[in-house]
Amino acid sequence: MNKKYVYFFNEGNKEMKSLLGGKGANLAEMVKIGLPVPPGFTVTTEACNRYYEDQKQIHALIVEEIFQSLEELEKRTGKKFGNPQNPLLVSVRSGSVFSMPGMMDTILNLGLNDETVVGMALATGNERFAFDSYRRFIQMFGDVVLQIPKFKFEHILDREKEENRIVLDTELTAVHLKNIIQAYKQLVQKETRKGFPQEPKEQLLMAVNAVFDSWNNPRAVVYRDLHDIPGHLGTAVNIQSMVFGNMGDTSGTGVAFTRNPSTGEKKIFGEFLMNAQGEDVVAGIRTPQSIEQLKDYMPEVYDQFITLANLLENHYKDMQDIEFTIENGKLYLLQTRNGKRTATAAINAAVDMVDEGIIDKETALMRVEPMQLDQLLHPTFEEKALAEAEKIAQGLPASPGAATGRVYFSAQDVVAAVNEGEKAILVRLETSPEDIEGMVAAEGILTARGGMTSHAAVVARGMGKCCVAGCGEIRIDEGNRVFKVNNLVFKEGDYISLDGNAGAVFAGSIPTMEPELSGKFSILMNWADEIRSLKIRTNADTPRDASVAVKFGAEGIGLCRTEHMFFEENRIPAVRQMIVAKTKEERMAALNKLLPFQKEDFIGIFEAMGERPVTIRLLDPPLHEFLPHHEEDIKALALQLGMEYAKLQETVDELKEFNPMLGHRGCRLAITYPEIYEMQVRAIVMAALEVKKEKALEVKPEIMVPLIAHEKELAIIKKLIIDTAKNVMEQYRETIDYMIGTMIEVPRAALTADAIAEHAEFFSFGTNDLTQMTYAFSRDDAGKFIGEYRKKEIFEKDPFQRLDQTGVGRLMEIAIELGRKARSDIKLGICGEHGGDPESIEFCHRIGLEYVSCSPYRVPIARLAAARAAVINK
Ligand code: PEP
Ligand code: MG
Repeated sequence: MNKKYVYFFNEGNKEMKSLLGGKGANLAEMVKIGLPVPPGFTVTTEACNRYYEDQKQIHALIVEEIFQSLEELEKRTGKKFGNPQNPLLVSVRSGSVFSMPGMMDTILNLGLNDETVVGMALATGNERFAFDSYRRFIQMFGDVVLQIPKFKFEHILDREKEENRIVLDTELTAVHLKNIIQAYKQLVQKETRKGFPQEPKEQLLMAVNAVFDSWNNPRAVVYRDLHDIPGHLGTAVNIQSMVFGNMGDTSGTGVAFTRNPSTGEKKIFGEFLMNAQGEDVVAGIRTPQSIEQLKDYMPEVYDQFITLANLLENHYKDMQDIEFTIENGKLYLLQTRNGKRTATAAINAAVDMVDEGIIDKETALMRVEPMQLDQLLHPTFEEKALAEAEKIAQGLPASPGAATGRVYFSAQDVVAAVNEGEKAILVRLETSPEDIEGMVAAEGILTARGGMTSHAAVVARGMGKCCVAGCGEIRIDEGNRVFKVNNLVFKEGDYISLDGNAGAVFAGSIPTMEPELSGKFSILMNWADEIRSLKIRTNADTPRDASVAVKFGAEGIGLCRTEHMFFEENRIPAVRQMIVAKTKEERMAALNKLLPFQKEDFIGIFEAMGERPVTIRLLDPPLHEFLPHHEEDIKALALQLGMEYAKLQETVDELKEFNPMLGHRGCRLAITYPEIYEMQVRAIVMAALEVKKEKALEVKPEIMVPLIAHEKELAIIKKLIIDTAKNVMEQYRETIDYMIGTMIEVPRAALTADAIAEHAEFFSFGTNDLTQMTYAFSRDDAGKFIGEYRKKEIFEKDPFQRLDQTGVGRLMEIAIELGRKARSDIKLGICGEHGGDPESIEFCHRIGLEYVSCSPYRVPIARLAAARAAVINK
């Protein structure tokens, strides 16, 4: 075997993470730059893989290499493994490429046995310390290697403390500790039918085995799945000579970050404990002190630590999370890694580091995860209150934010309650466009059904409103105005709270905090704008949403869904009149009533957007969505319209479809009722002409036709648009520029994009429908089974959230290629939900789209994601 499986720390460096694991590579790097690290060596990840290839046996040659290294370690430390006079003790720690909670972490004091403990007591002149170390070792080894439940050791420890009326571990004397050790050893004998292993080399190999085994324990496997860490990476094992923080009053141990991980403030942030060993700081038995207080105990050590911490940060050019131990006044570093941080800290630290000259702007952009920004764009719960809250159910995190309010089961009730000055949560089986006013008024929305692209989810994200969707655990009884979950009952008016980031539902009200966008946030965004080539537009249907999006940096509207305008109280009667009309004249009369409203809508949007481009989509949903479905509601509407109930019921029944998503919707509506689109085009062109005249705004509307599958559909509708626009312009004796384009959201359109491009000046990929139709997964029903698909690893991510690059993405590439062939300057964008997903945005950058369009609250995320895509693909 000529491959090397063991590396001394001084043989490696920080680039060797895949071989030495993160911890091993960083220990090696620290040794390389001359920092005080206790000597040791790393058994590589390749040894771990070899272990699995050899049916969970450490190969004899690897064992030999480990023992040779151990001999070398003895030479370097002047101590001997298993020697009672001067014993070498080591720590054994796992270390994979990515740090992974759930794997075996640490065994300290390995090498102690009944003899060496006595030697150690003599050598240090501190019997209590030696026996305390042995007691800890048996406990840790028993737990992680021998797999004896931890609580059994803790019982023994507690019993000894109780019997002797002792509160703190530090009050245990050597005699108490010897009793505990005796009882621990009996426990091991009982549980394993063997004595506690006394041979240090045997202890070591057992520990290495345990680390390798922990790579595949269930917790580690789940964690890897969650974070896309491949199983073939394996873990390394670090074996390092011990230093002791529990040697007395000039010893201690601690953990510190080079900057504050919550705020990013450039100031060492950390904790330590005097006279303690590593796990005491984390275990919470004693309350650690803040790192500044170390100055009072040992000013020189404190100064040295600060110097080394700064040195490490400058060396890694990133915030470090450092573990240290002080042994008899001497400082040692045991680990360093890039510190985990909040979004605020990530932004502040990245911007500061550019100012300090440590990193460049591109690196700063790569330091902030786009999705992390979400934390900063919505209200959040106060942390302390959240920790104490009672969680009652788990749904999908459909739209981020935190909301608290009283439960109401209909949109009208929400509106009424809000008018009374209450805060309300709309709870529905699922929402429909009729609920829009309630959704606007509510603090948050909870639905029992529906997935991440259900109506509730899409609309809530668009409004930046907190929403938990598809929460199947709750059972809603709308009639009695209650919902039940487990054995709890929530009545109308009861308080609940929603965490839209986690999809969690809580009982009662939890106080929230408003987001603060710091100055550094906008600095980072400006850097993103300098670098990105993708433009960022927004999906907005109202002037209010449009203004929010502009505030967040949107450069245009990529999708204005006109149907949302039809639901407002003062329009819906005319919309319904139009739908039930039996003749073209009746229909025209209703449409004429709608025209002024539509015109005002577009004027509002044009004014909010200035001269930024605005894509307006003509009517898309099936008409039945605008009609009521319950008998009482239909009766009420019949009365309102002056119609016979039976006639109206007939119309409602006629409009019912088996699969409305594949039914009479989109451009198909205009093929049968051209006058609907004609009215909308009229309104668009009139609005553009009027803002030109009155506000001197030159707008160039982009008129978009949905659901095109065949070029002839588009040819017919295009003619209608041109004729209508011409007619309006003649009437106004003025002209405007406008464009005609289509959504590409039906697979056939993608596959025949060359023919379609003959009639379209732009394409906008509607990847919600395109995903639905490519997979033949109903957007409204897929929520029921996608969870199972993810569990069975058919999908890594819900394809309605992250673009399926292989299938749906392939159709996009085909459409782009064909579209450009027919029209070289065709404008290309995306307006499906994927336009706000960072990984999908990267794909859009690569395939050469001009812009992505996303909900207003995703705009900053998209700006950053687009910048990172540019950096990555440079
Ligand atoms: C789409 O299908 O991707 C799209 C943007 O349109 P809608 O979600 O309104 O169907
Ligand atoms: Mg669509």
